[in-house]
Amino acid sequence: MFRNTLFAKLFLLLLVAVAIIIPGVYYFTIPAVDRHIYQLEEHAGKTTLDTIYTLLSQTERDLAAWHKYSIASHKRQLKDIVNIAAESLHLIYHKYERGQLSYAEAKAAAIAQIKAFRYGNNDYLYLCDYDANFIFHPDPELDGINSAQLKDINGQLIVPPMIARARSAGAGYHEYWWNRLGTQQPIRKITYTQDLPEWGWVVGSGVYVADIQRDTEARKNELIAFLRDFIRTAKIATSGYLYVFDGDLNMIIHPNSNIEKTNFSGLKNPLTGQSIGQELIAAAGNKDNKLIYQWDKPSDPGNYSYQKVAWVRYLPEYDYYVTSSVYTEDLKSSGNLLAKRLFHVSIAEIFLIMVLGLLLIYNVTGAIKKLVQVTDKIVDGDLSEHVKIERNDEIGQLGNSFNLMVDRLKEQIDTLESRVAERTAAQTQLVAQLEQNNVETTMLKEANEMLQECRNVEEVYRAVHIIMRKAFPATSGSLFSLGYEGQRLEVVSDWNCEPDNLGKTFPYDTCFAMRRGGSYVFASNEEKLPCSHLGTDVGVHTICVLISAYGDIFGVLHVQHESVSEQRLQRMLSLIEDIAEYTAGALANLRLRSRLRQQSVRDPLTGLFNRRYMDEVLAQEESRADRNASQVGIIMIDVDHFKKFNDTYGHEAGDEILRVLGKVLRDYFRESDIVCRYGGEEFIIILPDITLGQCQAKAEQLRDVVENNCNIFFLKDLLGITISLGIALYPLHNNDMRMVLKLADDALYQAKAEGRNRVVSASVTAS
Ligand code: GH3
Ligand code: MG
Ligand code: MG
Repeated sequence: MFRNTLFAKLFLLLLVAVAIIIPGVYYFTIPAVDRHIYQLEEHAGKTTLDTIYTLLSQTERDLAAWHKYSIASHKRQLKDIVNIAAESLHLIYHKYERGQLSYAEAKAAAIAQIKAFRYGNNDYLYLCDYDANFIFHPDPELDGINSAQLKDINGQLIVPPMIARARSAGAGYHEYWWNRLGTQQPIRKITYTQDLPEWGWVVGSGVYVADIQRDTEARKNELIAFLRDFIRTAKIATSGYLYVFDGDLNMIIHPNSNIEKTNFSGLKNPLTGQSIGQELIAAAGNKDNKLIYQWDKPSDPGNYSYQKVAWVRYLPEYDYYVTSSVYTEDLKSSGNLLAKRLFHVSIAEIFLIMVLGLLLIYNVTGAIKKLVQVTDKIVDGDLSEHVKIERNDEIGQLGNSFNLMVDRLKEQIDTLESRVAERTAAQTQLVAQLEQNNVETTMLKEANEMLQECRNVEEVYRAVHIIMRKAFPATSGSLFSLGYEGQRLEVVSDWNCEPDNLGKTFPYDTCFAMRRGGSYVFASNEEKLPCSHLGTDVGVHTICVLISAYGDIFGVLHVQHESVSEQRLQRMLSLIEDIAEYTAGALANLRLRSRLRQQSVRDPLTGLFNRRYMDEVLAQEESRADRNASQVGIIMIDVDHFKKFNDTYGHEAGDEILRVLGKVLRDYFRESDIVCRYGGEEFIIILPDITLGQCQAKAEQLRDVVENNCNIFFLKDLLGITISLGIALYPLHNNDMRMVLKLADDALYQAKAEGRNRVVSASVTAS
């Protein structure tokens, strides 16, 4: 039954609500209803009593009014009849006066007229004269008699007051007691008498008040009969009833016709011993007109244990006590019945609500369960599932929105997956790229290290061969070196090339890299010119990268390869450029190192070895001459009057002389001879393996060349220079090289002293 937790919760909630409502109804509503209905019933009982009381009271008032009206009506009738009779007697008398009738005839006619006049309930007219003699009376005992002393049952004179009233007022009423005609029973009577002055009579007629009262009584009885029916049928609660009794405890009206018209003064309240009638009369005087007493039941006679309540009201006009009585439990029974019904209806309604509530819960939780099932599948990754809720309410909308949400989610996940796949591919590619980069970076690092470690250009060329073959095994290529003159390129290193490739040379401008001063990439499928140094052997792609650093161009790194992607081509170009840069760096380093070395041993102005180098060489040559038992010649040279050129043409002219002289000296002496600038305008030539004679001859020849063939122009002036030379040989002149130098210097000094432009050899002294 408990389909799911939500269902159980809602069901429990419903049960709790029912558990609260039922006791609520039972303990609060039902007693309240009981109480209220009891009060209503009690009120109904009292109201019924009041209604009857009011009706009776109204009846009495109606009867009194009716009675009054009836008497007035009869009195009017009397007056009218007597007036008519008086008028007819007047007409008769008029006839007599006109002589149509004699007095006797007129009197007889008048009496006949009155005699014949009868109306109502055998009512009549009478005539009497002013002396109370009856001229006519229908009662034979009275007709013709004198009634002056006739008295009623109360001893009052009857006729004289009538005559007196008629004569004094013309007409008038008078009441008295009189025997009805033909009877001996005195009855109250009202008479109207009118004066007939021409006759000296009075005419009158009367009506018996009893007749009027009888009518009133009949009417009263009719009303009581009507009320009796009403009272008998009136009910209070289920078994309560109304009854009316009079002050003598005669039962006037009672639903039980057997009890009606009986006297119940003997009926006692067994619990109080008092007359129940008297107790009821006493209750009528109470404020609430209420009497509560114990009584028996028709179904349980003699058992006076049933509580009754009676309301009593007194109607003094009739001396009636109008009473309603009912068993208390009857008053409660309607409430109980209603309460029971209410309870049953409540239970039925609650049951109905529960059934409807369960249906609603089932309906709602069923839909939610479907949602949950689909949600579970979605959690498991199945996004193809949809909720099938076909309803037009909010739950239906929720289902539709949920399906829409799932569709969007699926769409987004699909998009996300494809993006992830794309990213993963890109990532993989990136990783491969990074790995490749890493390999290439390592390769470049190693290449750089290898190139930096090279001590001469040959090592650089071999290193380029190793690096390029390893880095680009699928390629072939060469390293072109720009020759000393800077005009031709020479293949100084290659890889995967024909054996005769090395040593080939070609003009520098056959290479576009040289022309452009940068890299040049050629593809056979592009509208571009290939470098002409390639001849007909043009690869699919060729790359020529300039090798240059610090403004110096060292050559070109040239690579040929098969077709590769544009991306790979660019990467290759970048790598080759890096290698070319490292190669250029290495070559520049070597060149710099060579220059520095040269600068440390050479004189910058003349390019000759400097004095520091000279000292080294002298030491070397000294030991070699010692080893080889050979001689080393030293020629010390000084420009004659050099100061004069400086003074005359300026310092630059002096420098020029020194430069030209340096070149002359370099060209003049052998490779093995070491030409040094000793300082200022002084030079020293170290000549290994030489004799004194050879040395003297060389010196003399040089002096001659300088004097005659060394044409130095400065500002178009030919500067004729001469030199003085001093010669000494090791170990010929001294076995201490420093001393030999000194001797050569002395010889030079001597040459100067002897007039300059000459050669003087040190003299050999026996030592
Ligand atoms: P002598 O014939 O006696 O040798 O006369 P001299 O003028 O050559 O002799 P001196 O030693 O008095 O003069 C040498 C001059 O050479 C002095 C100095 O100014 C100049 N000199 C030294 N070195 C250089 C140089 O490198 N360039 C130039 N322009 N002059 C130099
Ligand atoms: Mg000098
Ligand atoms: Mg000099």
